[in-house]
This record gives sequence, structure tokens and C-alpha cells, in this order.
Amino acid sequence: MAKRGGRVHDPQGIAATAVGELVVDCPACPHPGRNLPEDWQDAPDSEQWKYATMLAVDANFKLKLKDRGFEDVELAPGWSYFVENEAYAKHCNNYVDEEEMKHCDSLFAAVDHANMPSHKKYCVNGVGAAICARHCFYRKSGV
Ligand SMILES: [Zn+2]
Repeated sequence: MAKRGGRVHDPQGIAATAVGELVVDCPACPHPGRNLPEDWQDAPDSEQWKYATMLAVDANFKLKLKDRGFEDVELAPGWSYFVENEAYAKHCNNYVDEEEMKHCDSLFAAVDHANMPSHKKYCVNGVGAAICARHCFYRKSGV
């Protein structure tokens, strides 16, 4: 992956790879400076929809992984589609006792299920992903 991303020619080495640098960006989605007209920001409001990035986000909170004490080594920490593990764990520590938000009559209760005592033995209790809604390309650090 690093070879195909052109990382072997960097004088600072592979360790200098930035977050999401090895991702294949959706070539059809709008990228300023790459595939948009120079004056795309001056387009009338009725045409701004053409330059919007449309994302689809979904998650599966029934996907589980038991904590068996394995020391998992990241081979490409945050370089492509998965988030960098250490930064993600640090972020999650800010939401350990999060309560379920009840904005509607939905019975999903995904956060409540994740916080159940029987689920404490899992090191993973759900996976979410963000993709380009038009062309189905996964986003940088989108999983
Ligand atoms: Zn796209």
C-alpha cells in the first residue's frame, strides 16, 4: 500500500505518511482545485448542489469482538480507510458514560446496548463507516 501510494520515495520515510494519505479519493466527487471550475463558489444558490459532497453513514452495533488480550499491531496507522487506533481510543475515552439521546421514538438504543454490563467483555461493539453516497467510495479514516 505504501509502495503504491508513492511513500517509498519520501526522504522522511514511510513513518512520515499523513493520516488518510494512502486512500483512493472518489475521483468523481467535487474536489476544489482538481475537478471544479475556478468560479464554483460564485455559482448561484440554485446550482450549488452540484458542488456538494454527499455522504452516507451507517453503522452496525451488533458486530462484536471479544477482548482476548491480543496485542494487535497496526500496520498502517490511520493511513487509509480505518481511523488511527490510538487517537480513536483517546477520543472514545471522552464518551465512556454517554447516555442514549432520545430525539425520537426509535427503539434502536445503540448506545444503551453498547453500555450494557454484559458487553464490557468486548473490545469492539460496533463499526461505522462513511462513504461517498453517489459513487460508494470509502472516505479517508471513514471506518
Ligand atoms: Zn464520489
